[in-house]
Amino acid sequence: LEKELQAYRDLPAQTRDGYRLTLRGNVELAHEVPAVLAHGGAGVGLFRTEFLFLNRAQPPDEDEQFEVYRDLAQKMIPEPVTIRTLDVGGDKFVPEINLAEEENPAMGLRGVRFSLKERALLKEQLRAILRASSYGEVRIMFPMISGVDEIQACKGLLSEARAELDERGLSYDPDIRIGIMIETPSAALIADLLAPEVDFFSVGTNDLIQYCLAVDRGNEHVAYLYEPLHPAILRALKMIGDAGRRAGIEVGMCGEMAGEPAYALILLGLGFHELSMNAPCIPRIKRVVREVRRQDGEELLARLLELPRAQDVSRYVEEEMSKRF
Ligand code: PEP
Ligand code: MG
Repeated sequence: LEKELQAYRDLPAQTRDGYRLTLRGNVELAHEVPAVLAHGGAGVGLFRTEFLFLNRAQPPDEDEQFEVYRDLAQKMIPEPVTIRTLDVGGDKFVPEINLAEEENPAMGLRGVRFSLKERALLKEQLRAILRASSYGEVRIMFPMISGVDEIQACKGLLSEARAELDERGLSYDPDIRIGIMIETPSAALIADLLAPEVDFFSVGTNDLIQYCLAVDRGNEHVAYLYEPLHPAILRALKMIGDAGRRAGIEVGMCGEMAGEPAYALILLGLGFHELSMNAPCIPRIKRVVREVRRQDGEELLARLLELPRAQDVSRYVEEEMSKRF
């Protein structure tokens, strides 16, 4: 099967009725980049920058970050690279960054909440990302957005970072695209208010499921409740997809849910444009996409949205998939 899947590498992720989906790779470390290319990923849909900050006494400075982002952008030409600003806190523990101890870290100072407190650190990272955008197609993504104020504050700091580079005579892509992760219930519920602020959404299902269902993503005692096909999740995804479509922005997904073949038909039905996943998942998703019609996904979704429990949704999806594969 692996060999057979290799055949998909250079084919587009296009459905039988002509809907084109873009499949990209998630990357944490630079050495994962060849795997994205080898599996036919169209660039990087999520670069998790936390790993640059791990295992070292001092955070990487602007130049060091710039070099990493530039190399990544160059390797992916002509495809884009979406660089997510630092997402520490919660389950992402970076010992080098001294976070105060919190009783409830998942609900605490993490993602942009931390970055908006440590503004100098965020601006340094933004300058590095901007500078890399002169060398390939780079996009910026902010994690853990829960309200309009936060994205506006991030955009304000981005403007300052641009002005600082202008002063230093350094170039960047003036049309760089800006996006946010949709991974809190509040962001999903106000997706229509967030959409006009950005060029794209990327749904982080790992956190969205955790927060929507109030189930710690790493807690084995409640793992049975962590259900990607829970009706609440389907509804949230529908709201996000609809809001994005109405505003005319791109809607993607970069959580683990994007890499599960059984869900691909649903995501097609929801009208997602981009799925970003661990590179080895790409060929399997591409195979599903190429063998179905988007209309099948829309019809399936309409049925699923009427079902009351995750098990019912799951069983229905399995039946649909086994008819086809
Ligand atoms: C997510 O939450 O789905 C996501 C992609 O981000 P992370 O797993 O890094 O929190
Ligand atoms: Mg997340």
